[in-house]
Amino acid sequence: VSQKMQVIGAHSADFVWRAGGTIAKAVNAGATAEVVALTYGERGESGELWKESDQTIDSVKRIRHAEAEAAARHLGASFHCLDLGDYPLQITADALASLTDTLRRFAPDVVITHTDTDPFNPDHPVCFTAVDRARGLAAGAGVASAFSTITPPQLFLFEPHQPELCNFTPTVHVDITPAFEQKRAAMAEMKAQSYLQTYYTQRAEQRANHARRASGLQDVRYAESFQRVLPEVVEEL
Ligand SMILES: [Zn+2]
Repeated sequence: VSQKMQVIGAHSADFVWRAGGTIAKAVNAGATAEVVALTYGERGESGELWKESDQTIDSVKRIRHAEAEAAARHLGASFHCLDLGDYPLQITADALASLTDTLRRFAPDVVITHTDTDPFNPDHPVCFTAVDRARGLAAGAGVASAFSTITPPQLFLFEPHQPELCNFTPTVHVDITPAFEQKRAAMAEMKAQSYLQTYYTQRAEQRANHARRASGLQDVRYAESFQRVLPEVVEEL
């Protein structure tokens, strides 16, 4: 069980679909969880809000902030957004420094972010690269450095929308059955992307099937899958 979990997404709703149950389960077990969004997804992932006439960027950001905060509350996590601007997300030197500070300040045991490839979403791989660099900088590559560093956190990638096209191979299934009602409540807050609720409920059921086959644990009804990036260090196999 991770004590401090930091979930970093390109857009403010990404955490809900891909790691909502895992966040809730960790918090229910005593962990602290923080969700960091690099942007509100105000241009690229707020389509339904833009159907209203007279809609503005500021209004979309306000609505998306409220939705993400409410969703994070259902999971027991805090939410904050760096508001770097989406579609395209650009990582300036200042943005990288600010993301690195975010990691140093929270000092997570576990970091979760996007895959390095996504042909349908130009911002997600940019977020991966930024998080990977910031994690390396914050941890000082695991050795003594001239600047303050944190213990290297574990790095996991959450499941993208079309995993086969995104270099995603699940290496960890998390049983989220006991926390699924919390995930359902969090997903329901994302009114700008309500069409995804059915999709990610079905995905959780499919991954639970895979988790049952891999483990023999018959009680897994809902699961979320992740890909581990760094080797797991253990005392014995
Ligand atoms: Zn996104």
